[in-house]
This record gives sequence, structure tokens and C-alpha cells, in this order.
Amino acid sequence: MHRSEDRASSFAIPAHIVTLFEYRRKSGLMAALSNRLNRHVAALRACHRCPNMVSGPISGGAVISRVILVGQAPGVKEPILGKPFAWTAGKTMFKWFTESLNVDEECFRSTVYMAAVCRCFPGKTGAGGDRVPSKDEVANCSEWLAAEIKLLLPELIIPVGKLAIGQFIQQVPPLTDLIGTKWTLEKFGHRFDIVPLPHPSGASPWHRIEPGKTLTQRALEIIRDHPAWANRV
Ligand code: SF4
Repeated sequence: MHRSEDRASSFAIPAHIVTLFEYRRKSGLMAALSNRLNRHVAALRACHRCPNMVSGPISGGAVISRVILVGQAPGVKEPILGKPFAWTAGKTMFKWFTESLNVDEECFRSTVYMAAVCRCFPGKTGAGGDRVPSKDEVANCSEWLAAEIKLLLPELIIPVGKLAIGQFIQQVPPLTDLIGTKWTLEKFGHRFDIVPLPHPSGASPWHRIEPGKTLTQRALEIIRDHPAWANRV
């Protein structure tokens, strides 16, 4: 062994100390991120920016994840139950993930950050359906989504339904050309993939009949095989 190598090895930091430093550095970064995300969710839950919204904001909680799911807006039941996708559409969506990815509702909620285009229930229309949020409401709430993307730097985003997909793709193509595909995008200063899903609402039969059924299954397989999914937390 040369003298210089001998000197280098005598000053080398033992591997277990390097591992300990790295562990402390990473756990310090995670603690800081957790604090920031907790503060973000607390501020979100206190938001009253849109006067025509019927409920206050619904949040899935401060889940640190490489995967963000973006829904449309809560329905009438979610504010009562206090969580997104808490009723029939949620039952269908969580069934997709349980059956195709072996991830049940509890596991999903604790490992995926659940966002939405609008976090408050917009109320009903005269015809009895849920009111589509206005452009201003969508613009207001997209600031929360932008902050979440900047905080979490997700590698995979799953927008659910056309309104959510429209947050990422300006000209949304027909669902038959869109579901079952993956897009790489840059938005809010960050690059990530999106894999769109159809809205699991009982009002739309698209995902229950062909070709929607097969395309929805294909989209779930793309999510399952995405590197961020297996390492989402
Ligand atoms: S929809 Fe979004 S921006 Fe508007 S009040 Fe609710 S949380 Fe705030």
C-alpha cells in the first residue's frame, strides 16, 4: 500500500459513523418536511377564501408521499365524514386499488397525499347535481396544490376525473385516448408523471363498460409499475 493511501485510510470515517450521520441528516430533513406539511394542512383547513363554497376545506391529512392523488371536489358526505373520497365514489376508487394493486383504503390513505382541485363542497345545482366549481374557485385552490407539489416534489400524480385532469393537461382529449396512458409534465417548477383515472362516480358508467373498463385497468397497472408507487413513503 502507498503511503498516501495509508494516510487516507487512517483518516477514513468508519462506515457505521457515516451511516449514522446520513440517518440523522435524513431524519432531520424528514422532520422539517413533516413540520412544514403539518403547517400547510392546518392553514388549508382554515381557508375561507371562496365565499360561495358550502363546506369548509376537506383534507386527507399531512401524508408525506412521492404520490399525490388529485380529486375534483368533495361531495355532500365528505364534510360530514371529514375526509376526501369518503362515500360512493371513494368506495369504487378504493376497490380499484384494493383489487388491482393490493392496497386497501386504510393503506392508501396513509401512504398517498390526497389533494383536490377544490377542497370545499361547492353545493348542489338546481337540478340536484354537485355544482362545478367556478374558474375563480379553481384558481384560488390551485395555489394550495402548487404549494403541495413544491413541498412534496411528487414523482407521480394521479388526477381523478376530467376537472382534475384539466389542471395538468390544457386540452383534455377524450377519455378513450387518455385513460391508460402516462404523461411526463413540468408544472409549478417541478417535473413529474401523471397517470389519469376516470371519475369513479356512480353517475358515470364510463369506467364500468368497455373500453373504459379495460383502460381503467391499464391505468391502474401503469400506477402499480411506476417506480414511485412501490417507494411512495
Ligand atoms: S375551495 Fe380551496 S381556496 Fe376556496 S375556500 Fe376552499 S380551500 Fe380555500
